[in-house]
This record gives sequence, C-alpha cells and structure tokens, in this order.
Amino acid sequence: MNIVFLTSEVVPFAKTGGLADVCGALPIEVSRLGHRCSIIMPAFRGVERSGIDIQPTDISFAIPLSADKLVGGRLLHAKLGGSEVDVWLIDQPQYFDRPALYGESGFDYHDNGERFTFFCRAAIAAMLRLEQAPDVVHCNDWQSGLAPLLLKSNPKLAQQLGFPVSVMTIHNMAYQGVFPAELFPLSGLDWNDFHSDCEFYGQVNFLKAGLNAADFITTVSPRYAKEIQTPQHGCGLDGVLSARQGRVVGITNGIDVEVWDPSSDVKLPMRYDSEHWQFGKVGNKRSLQEEFGLELNDDVPMIGLVGRLAEQKGWDLILPVIKQHVQEQRPTQWIILGSGDPWVEYELKNLCEQAPQQVAAHIGFHDALAHRIEAGSDLFVMPSHYEPCGLNQLYSLRYGTVPVVTATGGLADTVVDASDENVANQTATGFHLPEKTPQGLDQAIGRALNMRHHQKKNWQDLVLRGMRKDSSWRQSAAQYQALYEEAVSLKA
Ligand code: ADP
Repeated sequence: MNIVFLTSEVVPFAKTGGLADVCGALPIEVSRLGHRCSIIMPAFRGVERSGIDIQPTDISFAIPLSADKLVGGRLLHAKLGGSEVDVWLIDQPQYFDRPALYGESGFDYHDNGERFTFFCRAAIAAMLRLEQAPDVVHCNDWQSGLAPLLLKSNPKLAQQLGFPVSVMTIHNMAYQGVFPAELFPLSGLDWNDFHSDCEFYGQVNFLKAGLNAADFITTVSPRYAKEIQTPQHGCGLDGVLSARQGRVVGITNGIDVEVWDPSSDVKLPMRYDSEHWQFGKVGNKRSLQEEFGLELNDDVPMIGLVGRLAEQKGWDLILPVIKQHVQEQRPTQWIILGSGDPWVEYELKNLCEQAPQQVAAHIGFHDALAHRIEAGSDLFVMPSHYEPCGLNQLYSLRYGTVPVVTATGGLADTVVDASDENVANQTATGFHLPEKTPQGLDQAIGRALNMRHHQKKNWQDLVLRGMRKDSSWRQSAAQYQALYEEAVSLKA
C-alpha cells in the first residue's frame, strides 16, 4: 500500500509533543512491513535544524482560498532519518516561517484556522502531483482534520487520487481546532458540509470534520478510545464518536527504541543495561545532583517529571505534594523539566528557591535533559487528569524508572499497578494513584518508596520487568497495517 501521513509535527523536524514522536516513528515502522510511506507536513521555521538534508523540488501549486486570495506553495523534500520514508514539506513562508508552530507567549496565532485550511488543501494538491496515488491518507489531529472531508465531499478529487481511504487519528481530544464559521469558505467546501460534518456551537471544528468524514478513527490507546466516547473525556465530541463506535479503534503508541535506549543513549553521562542498571542509574543521578546543586546523596530517591506544564498533566496534584515534602523535609529529591502555564512555572521557581537542595527545575524544552532525567530518577511521576497514551511513562519503564501514574487512558493500559496480586503474579510495573487528589499521589509515591526501601527484591523485579517490556513500534505498526487493510477492503 501507499500510505500518506498528514501531520503538523514530525521528529526531528518540528515537535511540541507526542504527536511528533509518533509521526517520526510510525511511518518508518509501517514501511518496514513492506509499504510505501510518505509524510506531508508544513515547512516550519527551524526544520533545517533537524540536520537532515532538505532539497527544493519543482512541484508548486496555488490554492484559491477565496475569490481574491490565491496562495502559492512549493514542496521541499527530505528522507526521514535514513529510512525510505519521503517527507514532503509544504513551503509557504507567510504561514509557516514563524518563531513557533501554533502561537507565541501563550497565545495562538490569530490565523491558525487559515494556516491549517491551507495546509490540508495544499497537502491534497501535493498528493495529486506525487508519483503514486495514495491508498491510505492517514490524518493526525485537528491540523489535518479537514482533509478527510475534502476527500469525501469532492468525488472528482477522490477519483483523481484513486479513491484513497482516510484514517483520522486523535492524539489528544482536547485540541480540536475550533474557529469562527466565517473561515469555513476558505476550505472551498459547501455550507452543507459545514452543517452536516463540522458545525460546533456555531463554529467550525476541524477535528469534528475528520471524525465524521474519515473511514476509520483511531486513537492512541484502547482505554482512551473508550473514554472519549463518554461526556467526561469526549470534550463535546463524544456523541460524534459513539455514533461511529464500530469505526473507532485504540492502538497504543510505541516508542523509538533506538533513540530511547539507556544502553546506547549518547545523551547520558553513564549508559547502562538491565544487568547494570543500579550502578548506571546512580551515576546518572549523581551527575544530575551536581548539575543542579542538589544534595549529593546516592540513596535519596529522585523523583522525575518531564512534560508540558499544562492542567492536563496534574500539576494541581504535583505542586501540593512537592510543597508537603519540602515543608516536612522528607528524604526525597525532585527534578522537573517543562514549560507552559506561567502559574506552574512561578510555583516551581518558588519551590526551587525554598529548597534548592531538594527541588530543581529547568523551565524550557530540553531534549537531552529529558533523557538524563529519565535515566537518573528512581520514580517518574505522571498524575495526568487524562492521557491519550503518554510517552514519558514508556520511556521511564525502559530506563528503569518506576512510573507513578493515574489509572487513565494510555497510562492505565501501559503501567500495571503493583497491587499484591500483580506483584505475586509478576506483572506489576508501576504504581497507580488510588484517587486523583494530592493525597492519592502522595499515597502512591509512599507505596513506591516503601517497596524500594523495604522489599528490595520486589523492587528489582518491578524495575527489570519495566526495562524488558517491549514498547517498540513493531506491534502497533502491525495493528495499523491490519486497520489499513480492513479500510481498503471495506471500500473496495
Ligand atoms: P504530550 O504529547 O501530551 O505532551 P507525551 O508524554 O505523549 O505528552 O509526549 C511528550 C513528549 O514531549 C515526550 O517525548 C517528552 O519527553 C517530550 N517533552 C515534553 N516536554 C518536554 C520538555 N520540556 N523538554 C523536553 N522534552 C519534552
């Protein structure tokens, strides 16, 4: 099959979150199964920093966004990370040559609706020009949500492309791309399409368009696939999803096991494998303690956190627990990496000032430090209110860092709670919060530390089971392949 991925983020070209990790790895893994995979994404500022050779092509096009607005674009080309996967970057400097992907200083760019309408239309124009017609158009998140509708509503276009099937993947239901209805005509679609497929409280909802129009909908874990069909997690689109429940599938993300491998990770001061993990982790912990001015102590448990400083990630639980540990001078150390909500940044800076030997934080995006934190920490805390899949808990498992998580979405699917039963039947890999409160988080951390101190054998088993768990993309890619095949056969 010829599979074309539409996405706004791909590692190493552009990344704000897990979407980029998925789109940088899944196409490579699917191509290893014998398919031809390519990616279409915007040529954001900074893509050249990926270190990958990007070449201009002679493919250009002009999209009539309105009667008096014809917007041109051209394709750049690269290969993804030494693989056979083609990356087609849509070069349109007015829209994409900006300091950030979606906005700056906490504000979205005012024309995001227009930018990503252009992206979807340009991606289809690009597909019309590429050598081989797609069998599958795999769209990711709201930025490419209009594409399935553009394909469905324009039979002539679909015919020119050889009637590809479309798949819409939700990486996070909370981001839907909702814009004023006045923008809708830029899509070139009919108002009937607006009313039938994308109207959302009088506005246009890009993700809804994709959910209604795609042949299949996937999301990034089975548990999240169920959760988003409920009002609690559906963010207003649970009805749309339950109406299509036979076409909603959850496939758990994998991780890039070459990039995230403690035995070969060049970003680590000390590399280690599952035989020498204790020695290796202490070495990495020590170097974090030195770097951040924390108390130099091999025994003190280091608790790591990496992620967006956003409400989703449970900072309302984390901050009170850190405060309590500081006030009560508990024997724990905290190392935090993230950027986002200013109030969380402010609170974190305060805590670091209050207890410089116990709490350290780096505010910003720092890939190498994320690796070092995964390696040097004993526990990784991720009490998300919801989590489509989550990658950091998977990295933690692989780095022998025991995850403490809420039992939601992909966290529930990938971390097995160390209940007495699961410890006895040797399946446990981490700790679930008994409830989504600061007390619940503290209790789960307490259980983990108790096992670490008093049940050393159980702790070692837990760590090793996590390190040996296969979280590679291989299994997920096979599931995507089966889904593509089913979609194609249903359409035939
Ligand atoms: P989400 O996609 O909701 O942000 P995930 O856990 O699925 O959360 O993926 C987040 C990805 O982004 C991981 O690869 C994580 O290591 C990375 N990441 C998040 N924040 C930072 C940061 N401040 N510095 C470096 N990497 C980060």
